Amino acid sequence: MRVLSGIQPSGSLHIGNYFGMMRRMIAYQEEHELYGLDPEKAIFWVQSDVPEVTELTWILSNVTPMGLLQRCHSYKDKIARGLSPNHGLFAYPVLMAADILLYQSEIIPVGKDQKQHVEVARDIAIKFNQTYGETFVIPEPEIEDEVAVVPGIDGQKMSKSYDNTIEIFADEESVRQKVMGIVTDSRPIDEKKDPEADNLFLLYKLFAAPEDAASLADRYRTGGVRYSEVKKELFSLIIDYFGPYRRKRAQLAKDPSVVREILRRGAERARERAAPTIEKVRERVGIKY
Ligand code: ADP
Repeated sequence: MRVLSGIQPSGSLHIGNYFGMMRRMIAYQEEHELYGLDPEKAIFWVQSDVPEVTELTWILSNVTPMGLLQRCHSYKDKIARGLSPNHGLFAYPVLMAADILLYQSEIIPVGKDQKQHVEVARDIAIKFNQTYGETFVIPEPEIEDEVAVVPGIDGQKMSKSYDNTIEIFADEESVRQKVMGIVTDSRPIDEKKDPEADNLFLLYKLFAAPEDAASLADRYRTGGVRYSEVKKELFSLIIDYFGPYRRKRAQLAKDPSVVREILRRGAERARERAAPTIEKVRERVGIKY
């Protein structure tokens, strides 16, 4: 089975990315041919190092109805937030479809915000197959319910685009400030509260042992929880959880040539796997001679 996912390289990794997508990718690489995270076990590369993806994007554009893209929430949301509308932003779901279809990927682990984009990729693949004959595997989005939308420190979806993230690799002091800045309500300590409606509790639950999360949930329901104490505990849980990853990253950052070599080799392997698909597509649409 081929499993593929992706992430925007701009900005820094945050815990929404980790729980929404990366954690599952790490688990998958033990079992399947994965296009993901450990370069020894998976194929890890930068999208723009595989030029075939832009060629496929243009070809797929010709079987992509305007209405399909006009319905995409992510584009509408970005425009509503003040980004200037341009063709690249509008056509981005076609690029993402090309990236998925080029590798004949079957399972696409994503957070809920990306579900619609994977559905667009499915629609485009189906339309292409109907028009030109069976060419692409039809991909399936895979969303994990409990982490479909990890909240940010302001309670909206955590996202690099919203400036509300807790970054995995920021220095400890910045992580502490972000955690202490998680928005909570100002009701009296003794008031009974619903844990599942509280942003801080939802973040705590991601890291705490299940019995600790259950006991904190009980304390919310009976009243008496001090948010500042929960925040302190959450901060140390986060630092402990990502400790090994943080050390590994610090080590890699000292030697960027190792990283460049991993990416170069990843792109090489990705291109090898893309080659038969792009050949077939050229044949199907009649531009191969
Ligand atoms: P961002 O929204 O921060 O720019 P990306 O668009 O690069 O993140 O998303 C990379 C992956 O992480 C996608 O699969 C996306 O669905 C997932 N993801 C991002 N933010 C969250 C979140 N808050 N909760 C769950 N999954 C998320």
